[in-house]
Amino acid sequence: MLTATSKGNAYDVAMENFDTAADKIELDKNTREMIKYPERMLTVTVPVRMDDGRIHRFEGYRVQHSSVRGPAKGGIRYHPQVTLDEVKALATWMTWKCAVVNIPFGGAKGGVTCDPKRMSAGELERMTRRYTSAILPIIGPEQDIPAPDVYTNAQTMAWIMDTYSMTKGYAIPGVVTGKPISLGGSLGRNEATGRGVFYTIECACEHLHMPLQGATVAVQGFGNAGSIAAQLLHDAGAKIVAVSDSTGGVFNRNGLNIPELIHMKTLCGHVDGFPESEPIQAHELLALECDILVPAALENMIHAENAPAIRARIVAEAANGPVTPAADRIFESKGIFVIPDILCNAGGVTVSYFEWVQDEQHLFWEAQDIYKRLDRVMKTAFRDVLKIHLGRNVPMRIAANMLGIGRVAEAVKIRGIYP
Ligand code: NAD
Repeated sequence: MLTATSKGNAYDVAMENFDTAADKIELDKNTREMIKYPERMLTVTVPVRMDDGRIHRFEGYRVQHSSVRGPAKGGIRYHPQVTLDEVKALATWMTWKCAVVNIPFGGAKGGVTCDPKRMSAGELERMTRRYTSAILPIIGPEQDIPAPDVYTNAQTMAWIMDTYSMTKGYAIPGVVTGKPISLGGSLGRNEATGRGVFYTIECACEHLHMPLQGATVAVQGFGNAGSIAAQLLHDAGAKIVAVSDSTGGVFNRNGLNIPELIHMKTLCGHVDGFPESEPIQAHELLALECDILVPAALENMIHAENAPAIRARIVAEAANGPVTPAADRIFESKGIFVIPDILCNAGGVTVSYFEWVQDEQHLFWEAQDIYKRLDRVMKTAFRDVLKIHLGRNVPMRIAANMLGIGRVAEAVKIRGIYP
């Protein structure tokens, strides 16, 4: 079983990182007050008839952190540890992330505190539809556009789109992204986050003069983001020596067969027991001597207690908020190059933006067009952040926050929406 647990409150981390970056760009007090906090927070009760006839009450949230640069945008998470503070943190990061990749969205996030692994498909569908009804007044293609996050997927998005459309009387695909292709989803959206992670790792390797071919990689969290990043790194000749999920971890010093492992995870729902591998504990995976560590599970998994053991040269944050500020300081002293979440995993929201544009235009693009555009957006954002990192001599995370917060601050000032 895994022993790595998250430490601390993600919202405190989001606030601390905001303050550090805002100080660096010398943001005035008034603008700080305007852009730091969520614009709107909705907590809802979600009563669901369970398969055994009982009514169970779940608690759900939707937080819109900012709509300054466009409609609020962000995923929906189903997980037992979802709290309002977690959703507030994730919504805040979405605002800076959309600004870092310069797409015209603000930030939002949603979640329901539940254990989806213990729920049937029918229970999940009823919960999703009821949650959608509860947040319906504040979502919409021009207002706030949900997408998948941890333990939600294209099917979840299809249920949300259907529930929303039923109230209007016609299909409104643009209310969510990450939909199935048959409902107006975009080619390339499912793998977009992992692909964006891969592109930023390519940029980091180039910057550090480190060949990706033959590089060793450990991946914590083998879901959508982690498994696809692993697949693309594997295809590029990197050696994925260890991966983990919520049930356990596997290790092979000669490199795991990633296509086979993805196949097994799809069939069985876990990675442990994979042939030609040995089990590895969560703390051992983090401490492996490898070139690239990809945290792709949940926030605050790397903290002051386990960060000293990390020996990777690059930490590529596929997950949101996986590293606490205390761990960041340890990485800095060890010279570890961090590709921060709001840059590294921004491929997901970037292709979500492409999906929304395609839905609005009723005109769909080829996969190659999407990859090419995504590559351009991610590499431009990486260069923009790197320039601040080198020019201002600040860590990559602070540089990314300075870029994102600076763009939102500029938009607030130009709009003059807060006289
Ligand atoms: P997912 O549900 O597809 O996968 C999550 C994975 O993490 C699962 O394999 C799960 O078993 C594993 N996991 C959970 N707890 C773990 C633990 N303690 N140790 C190791 N593994 C653990 O979710 P996802 O969409 O891949 O999201 C993962 C991270 O990426 C989250 O932080 C999410 O916010 C972030 N992210 C996802 C997207 C996206 O488009 N899906 C976009 C941006 C960021």
